[in-house]
Amino acid sequence: MILRKKLIAGNWKMNKTTADAVTLVQELIAEIGRQTEVDVLVCPPFTALDAVGRALEGSTLKSGAQNMHPEASGAFTGEVSASMLRALFVTHVILGHSERRTLFGEQDAFINQKVIAAFKNQLRPILCVGETLAEREAGDTLKVVQTQLEAGLEGVSTEQAPSLIVAYEPVWAIGTGKVATSDQAQEVHAFIRGLLVKLFGEAIAQKIRILYGGSMKPSNAAELLAQKDIDGGLIGGASLEARSFVELVKAAAAAK
Ligand code: PEP
Repeated sequence: MILRKKLIAGNWKMNKTTADAVTLVQELIAEIGRQTEVDVLVCPPFTALDAVGRALEGSTLKSGAQNMHPEASGAFTGEVSASMLRALFVTHVILGHSERRTLFGEQDAFINQKVIAAFKNQLRPILCVGETLAEREAGDTLKVVQTQLEAGLEGVSTEQAPSLIVAYEPVWAIGTGKVATSDQAQEVHAFIRGLLVKLFGEAIAQKIRILYGGSMKPSNAAELLAQKDIDGGLIGGASLEARSFVELVKAAAAAK
């Protein structure tokens, strides 16, 4: 049996000043800063990455960015490159989040360029995929997820793939309080695992973590995290407060 270590990642979105981010990190470190049962990642806004990176030093927590540009440098006003993130000791980057896709018009091909650039710079991409409510109701969930996953991973090698993290985030469940049932989520996670087997082979696909995201909170985490192909959570709202974030990490530790 293959044991994938669970990963709990907090996506703080456009929330928290640098000072507020450091306070939250200090609260997290006090409770879960030394545990090694679960991988824990915080993804603050760009402005707080430097201070958060320093605050995390000596703990087992890691920091991730919420986005990046695929180019190394140049005339891309307002953008940040992979090497800039690496210089702040960032280890992971969320790519293709549904808010980037819908609010900022990001397409699969552009997201794919970012995935490739992340790997090239030793950043672990968290590639987000997921269907809208209309797509689910039309019976297109698996088709949408397949298109986003395959396009997002074009050109990724079998050497790179074990570092990949996928997040299944049904758009209708993000920030809405509506959570996918554990059966709905597991169905899509198993489907994603099958696609990863086709792309990279069984052994590598079994190593890749697939997170669930969409209104995950302490009250529903245990059931979701107990599913065979749910290897952790990408958490928005419930990661903004130490108590719920810590409870999610504990739920993941109990589910392993
Ligand atoms: C997210 O934005 O990735 C997310 C899952 O948000 P929430 O937990 O608030 O639904």
